[in-house]
Amino acid sequence: MPAHSAIRSVNWHLISACNYSCRFCFARNLGEQPVPFSEGLTILAHLADAGMEKINFAGGEPLLHPSLFDYCRAARDLGMTVSITTNGSLLSQKLIEEHAACIDWLALSVDSASESTEKRLGRGYGQHVQHCIDLSDTIRAAGIRLKINTTVTQLTWEEDMADFIKRTSPDRWKVFQMLHIQGENDDAVADLAVTDEQFQAFCARHADVVLHGVVRPVFESSAMIEGSYFMITPGGCVKTDTGRVIRKYPLADVLQVGISGFVNEELYLGRGGVYAW
Ligand code: SF4
Repeated sequence: MPAHSAIRSVNWHLISACNYSCRFCFARNLGEQPVPFSEGLTILAHLADAGMEKINFAGGEPLLHPSLFDYCRAARDLGMTVSITTNGSLLSQKLIEEHAACIDWLALSVDSASESTEKRLGRGYGQHVQHCIDLSDTIRAAGIRLKINTTVTQLTWEEDMADFIKRTSPDRWKVFQMLHIQGENDDAVADLAVTDEQFQAFCARHADVVLHGVVRPVFESSAMIEGSYFMITPGGCVKTDTGRVIRKYPLADVLQVGISGFVNEELYLGRGGVYAW
């Protein structure tokens, strides 16, 4: 009998491939092909049985997966809250409106309000910020909740993103300290990693930001991120990053032992892993 777990949400990295080349990325080198859709449906059912109330489809770039929206519908049918984290480059008004009924949250990754800085980071090709501003209007108009994910790096820790956040008006803003994962983003550490003090300076600069009159941004340092996410790989394994090294375990084994043996529940709850989704 698996141990009881407080974990209620999961990130499924559906695909490793991406059309962007963010230098700090730690999710493109898993070296796995995505599972066939029929196997993916079984994984979804196991996750729902294990108490997952919310699933976030991520990548790589999840819109490169041909069955992304079929997975969204299937997860919805299982009663889960459905989220997609995307760089937004493949999203259009038509696509958003077409699939709005099976998506609760769309998270756009934007690390800077400056197009040139995003380009230097590898986040797109010079139109990323404006594209995400345009998408933010479409997402809200479609009745989908909007999240902005921001990774703070050496190029951005002194930036003020308050005007950008005001303009895009997300329901949730998550701000991450760049996380070094061995073998994933080693090359970026020397010139992009930020110290704890630099990250805290960015947080302090945005501490007064209030979303929709009530919601505060969520700030996650590297120490808060590490070990606190329940993550599934494209091939259907559980991925952990404790010690900032990727390890993989068969999902069946994890569910048998109990998710809390692989994800730090205290950190998960402490960083607000369960919220009004
Ligand atoms: S868009 Fe996301 S998955 Fe793609 S390279 Fe950037 S951080 Fe990595």
